[in-house]
Amino acid sequence: MLNNDKKDVSLQQNIYNNMTIAVDFDGTIVEHRYPEIGREIPFATDTLKMLIQERHKLILWSVREGKLLEDAVEWCRARGVEFYAINKDFPEEDVEKNMHFSRKLKADVWIDDRNVGGLPDWGTIYEMISKHKTYEQVLTEQLGAAEPEKPKKKWWQLG
Ligand SMILES: [Mg+2]
Repeated sequence: MLNNDKKDVSLQQNIYNNMTIAVDFDGTIVEHRYPEIGREIPFATDTLKMLIQERHKLILWSVREGKLLEDAVEWCRARGVEFYAINKDFPEEDVEKNMHFSRKLKADVWIDDRNVGGLPDWGTIYEMISKHKTYEQVLTEQLGAAEPEKPKKKWWQLG
């Protein structure tokens, strides 16, 4: 049914446009120099600003605490990146008020240099989140752009 298909697509877009994205700081937004703040990893803050503009909720998810955490928040703010929440699910959360409090953050996506396989570059991260592509799809496209196209093998010619 065409109508239902349309509904599904807009529902999907809605989900994609309102993702909660947890972002690590050290080693992810800046080079790892903890407790100092390292140099920005190329395009990190520009990408984060684009994701905020696309209505995603960004949560800073860091092991930093106290003054060191404030320094990181200020560093991001000075570059135009304002987080929805910091080290918690939503701005008002506190342990006593949230009956469902759990140490496990409820994010849709994590951007963290401790991911298996490490941190993709920020251009790739943007493509994956904003265009809903898999890591493999983005890499294949990047390879495709660099190499002349080869004739595709039919599946029965593979292996
Ligand atoms: Mg890290």
